[in-house]
Amino acid sequence: MDVAVFSTKPYDRRFLDAAVAGRHALTYIDARLDPTTAILAGKAQVVCAFVNDAVDTAALDVFAQLGVRLVVLRSAGFNNVDLAAAKRQGILVARVPAYSPEAVSEHAVALMLSLDRHIHRAYARVRDGNFALDGLLGFNLHGRTVGIVGTGRIGLGVARIMLGFGCKVLGYDVEPSPACEAMGVVYRPLQDLLATSDIISLHCPLTRETRHLIDAAAIGVMKRGVMLINTSRGAIIDTKAVAAGLKEGRIGHLGLDVYEEEEELFFEDKSDAVIRDDVFERLLMFSNVLVTGHQGFFTVEAMTAIAETTASNIDAFERTGRPVHEVL
Ligand code: NAD
Repeated sequence: MDVAVFSTKPYDRRFLDAAVAGRHALTYIDARLDPTTAILAGKAQVVCAFVNDAVDTAALDVFAQLGVRLVVLRSAGFNNVDLAAAKRQGILVARVPAYSPEAVSEHAVALMLSLDRHIHRAYARVRDGNFALDGLLGFNLHGRTVGIVGTGRIGLGVARIMLGFGCKVLGYDVEPSPACEAMGVVYRPLQDLLATSDIISLHCPLTRETRHLIDAAAIGVMKRGVMLINTSRGAIIDTKAVAAGLKEGRIGHLGLDVYEEEEELFFEDKSDAVIRDDVFERLLMFSNVLVTGHQGFFTVEAMTAIAETTASNIDAFERTGRPVHEVL
């Protein structure tokens, strides 16, 4: 099949070329997908898209005119796709439902450990010949309460690690997981979890219900000095409310791998550019904030699994007219 791969980086080529092994003709497109770049799909029957590609009504209209029949996402989340518009146009959508959830779970824990022990600050200090410990005081994770919002695949992985550290782990989910309960996760209503956790880690998908789940009111019930971690999707937190919470000292540590306006920033080298996002710049002013640029998925294991599942979605579509992991 002819496949147009949007938002391609050199690492995408490496893993996709290996997984597809010449079975399909891949055209790599550097540009991010939006209504103006959708035309670059050309004669492709399949479009391959990533997290910040806008698979919206306008892009899908262009795809329908070009004859695209399938969109395969190199991601688990599909909040960037207008599913109703895809259905209207008769374009199928597929994703990679699970590709090494441990990659993201471990990254969430990396953010927790780095923030708690100020590793990002210690790294810079020691390189500068400053060995003073003032300002680097941390706390033991052992005995602390960790609240996990969304106890699916990634949330379960975080729970497993934090239980290993000797933490008490609370969970909130619209569908509690028996596997988590069996491990020792205690389910609580969201408000209780927010009010009693020392660390809150977000692992629910971005939906209409979860958009700005963490807003000023939610921050208002949290413990003073709470650590908030978001490796899920940026818009689950209201960034302005979180910045205010940091300023007031309500939020003691903030670890983000995702940001609600990340489309304009992440995955690109902007080191020579002026970043014109005041909210983002403000966050970076706080020494108790650690931001990574959506790299939770970026391990060899996860990239291999993403590429292989994407290839299997295209293979199955070619054979049967349906991808393996269709988003319905
Ligand atoms: P999953 O589907 O296995 O788990 C999501 C869980 O959230 C489910 O148990 C579901 O019941 C729960 N949920 C749904 N709505 C909820 C709500 N309103 N309140 C509370 N819980 C709710 O998904 P996963 O594989 O664990 O991934 C979770 C999210 O992580 C994805 O949706 C994606 O946005 C994000 N993600 C980020 C990266 C990264 O690189 N940072 C990589 C992969 C996934």
